[in-house]
Amino acid sequence: MDLRKIGKFIAKSRTEKGYTQESLAETLDISNRAISKWERGICLPDSAHMVKLCKLLNISISDLFNGERVDIKDNKEISEKNLLELMKAKEEKDKQLLSLEWVLGGIAVVTLLSLVVVAAVIDMPDYTRWIIMSIGFVVFMISMFFALRIEQIAGYYKCAECGNKYVPKYWGVFMARHMGRTRHLRCPKCGKKSWQKKVL
Ligand SMILES: [Zn+2]
Repeated sequence: MDLRKIGKFIAKSRTEKGYTQESLAETLDISNRAISKWERGICLPDSAHMVKLCKLLNISISDLFNGERVDIKDNKEISEKNLLELMKAKEEKDKQLLSLEWVLGGIAVVTLLSLVVVAAVIDMPDYTRWIIMSIGFVVFMISMFFALRIEQIAGYYKCAECGNKYVPKYWGVFMARHMGRTRHLRCPKCGKKSWQKKVL
């Protein structure tokens, strides 16, 4: 999928329909900046706006993904190709998120440990010691919050009982026992608890 081509196509279709970035933004009830990002090929419209946008510009979703008007007979093949590319892009993003989780975890542990060591070893007034320990603790908690958030949203958990793949709630992930990325969760489909693997 060529984001730049798609961006140019959006810009071209927009001007053909007589919209400025501002008037289109207003009609879609979003910021000018979002439109400008799409047109510069920085990102795709999210699914909520994509349908409305295509209607306004009188183009199909396949046209949009392809960055040009496509023949109806080519449509099926192209949409399938684009769907696959979207899935690949999501998998790629999930992989990046999961590596980011390692980085976050590392930062959390290193920060906490070094501040605890500093507070324990260096001579200082008690209240300074407490402030340093608290900062370490807060950084640790924030990093852990985001690491767990990534763990929740990146990819899916797969139920060992029925094979259902799903994204659990944050609290469920927070409370669940885990071994690495495998968590003991209740499947929303079959209702059984099992050790569920993280899959992309
Ligand atoms: Zn299940």
